[in-house]
Amino acid sequence: MLLIPCPYCQHIFEEEDFAYAGEAFIERPPQPEQISDQEWADYLFMRNNPKGPHLEQWIHAAGCRKFFVVKRNTANNRIEGSWTMAKAHAGKNDLLERL
Ligand SMILES: [Zn+2]
Repeated sequence: MLLIPCPYCQHIFEEEDFAYAGEAFIERPPQPEQISDQEWADYLFMRNNPKGPHLEQWIHAAGCRKFFVVKRNTANNRIEGSWTMAKAHAGKNDLLERL
């Protein structure tokens, strides 16, 4: 079982209080009508599946109901940090560089 720190509640809760919401920093194409069907399918379905550090979105479903970003090592399930969406996006390049 994961113990996940919610950056909004400033407390650690059990995994059952949260829902996984996919890989972090997936950006919707600004003009979907101008990209190919393959590019649209890649945006919708293709995700990284690394063994090691991974940036993910989670929602505190049974708590504050806010989305946030978690850095989780998929090899050992250790949570290496969590950030509010605002802080994660402000430090996006730094977070991606430190993977
Ligand atoms: Zn929370």
